[in-house]
Amino acid sequence: MEFDKVLSTILSVKKPWIIREIDVHKGTRSVNVYIDFERGSTFNCINCEQPCKVYDSTYRVWRHLEILNYRCYLNIKMPRLSCEIHRIITLDKIPWGRNNTHFTHLFEQSVIKLCPQMNISAIAKHFGEIDTTIWSIYNHQIEKAKKNNLIFQN
Ligand SMILES: [Zn+2]
Repeated sequence: MEFDKVLSTILSVKKPWIIREIDVHKGTRSVNVYIDFERGSTFNCINCEQPCKVYDSTYRVWRHLEILNYRCYLNIKMPRLSCEIHRIITLDKIPWGRNNTHFTHLFEQSVIKLCPQMNISAIAKHFGEIDTTIWSIYNHQIEKAKKNNLIFQN
């Protein structure tokens, strides 16, 4: 099986999304996975749910879990959509991460899993990130858990 097909399976890249390119950089020990969408794809408007054509797009980057000890970044081509009612809108949901962060869901979960064992500074050092980044992930996940009644609140 070719590497892009292996990664598609592992990352659950499904139509209309496709892996366009994988760039392995030995010097920085990093893997950049470029996830694009098929030409002619439509996405539903975030307001009215109508299928919309893509107006334009730009790559955004999310840090993902490491692959074989290489840092992995998902470069996802984010479309702006042309809705007949709502004009130009930005797609705000992708399967791999929140729109307003630079970390995938799985990366954020791996941060949270370490919280019972390590303090925030140690976790930041472990991932090579700064404390405030880890705090923002932590605070978001705690708020999410509270909303879903997964944490006892007094
Ligand atoms: Zn719309």
